[in-house]
Amino acid sequence: MKPAPFDYIAPDSLAQAIELMAEHGDEAKLLAGGQSLIPAMNFRLVQPTLLVDLNKLADLEYLRLAANGDLLIGAMTRHRRLERDPLVAEHAPLISEAMPFVAHSQIRNRGTIGGSLAHADPAAELPVIMVTLGGRFRVQDKSGERWIYAADCFQGLFLTDIGPEEIIVEIAVPPMAKNTGYSFVEFARRQGDYALIGVAALLSIDESGKCTSARLVYLNAGDYPVIVEGATELIVDEIPSVTLFQKVAEAAEATLQPTANIHASVAYLRQLARVLTVRAFNKAYERAGGAFAG
Ligand SMILES: Cc1cc2nc3c(=O)[nH]c(=O)nc-3n(C[C@H](O)[C@H](O)[C@H](O)COP(=O)(O)OP(=O)(O)OC[C@H]3O[C@@H](n4cnc5c(N)ncnc54)[C@H](O)[C@@H]3O)c2cc1C
Repeated sequence: MKPAPFDYIAPDSLAQAIELMAEHGDEAKLLAGGQSLIPAMNFRLVQPTLLVDLNKLADLEYLRLAANGDLLIGAMTRHRRLERDPLVAEHAPLISEAMPFVAHSQIRNRGTIGGSLAHADPAAELPVIMVTLGGRFRVQDKSGERWIYAADCFQGLFLTDIGPEEIIVEIAVPPMAKNTGYSFVEFARRQGDYALIGVAALLSIDESGKCTSARLVYLNAGDYPVIVEGATELIVDEIPSVTLFQKVAEAAEATLQPTANIHASVAYLRQLARVLTVRAFNKAYERAGGAFAG
């Protein structure tokens, strides 16, 4: 199919892009990598009358460290750069670990972090990673700018707290605490497909090996990244063990409410979540410097 007719402008500055969005409101759509927007336009699921192309705004594509240790990522930074850049691997390795799971390399060459976060697909990796890491997004419109925490941003199926005139310009990712391990695992039927389900895990331990905090965030287990809190409480203040990880995973399995689809029943998706949770915690614990007794 072909998209409905639309006008196209590629502004030379962020200020001009902001002006255009203020003028046209939800009639306009920002074009970043186009990897989600263009297919949706071709299927006429969205019919903007104006595309505001951000691709000339080279100053929205960067990676740098802030004085407070946050990793700052420009909204137009491509998936491929997040996957390969050593600064990301050093300061936010969970991002580097998840990126190869995002679609295929051709799509990662074009797709951007800003586009993925704004699109808010429940099966997308980056929203889950940002919620796990406590990331936040700087958005701008004509009235100024504000920061939105990832945990507050995703509000429903393809629904965010970002207004139709707002542009994500920057993403800030705080450093992980000392003695924290991370892991991202997912299961897709074929390499590059959207995952049936996936999970990101963080686990911190103290000098005695006791778990001081734990986090599990699931992909494609609901309308947006799903944080499982009750299950992770089982492990805090405890010395991790195989049995404990299994208990946490069973508790997560019981809590999650994924939607059945043509490839998997709810029972299968929950079971998958349990298996992936144990794998994710095992890896995170090892990376935190922990080792099972005996
Ligand atoms: C075959 C296929 C497989 C895919 N598989 C996966 C996958 O496994 N995992 C995954 O995560 N993704 C997957 N994707 C999606 C891909 O990662 C997209 O790149 C991403 O979702 C959107 O990024 P984009 O830069 O292409 O955004 P676009 O498609 O250009 O825009 C998406 C939406 O975000 C808005 N937008 C863009 N930039 C901004 C901004 N700076 N501020 C505010 N709003 C903005 C647009 O107006 C639009 O509504 C797949 C895509 C395809 C075609």
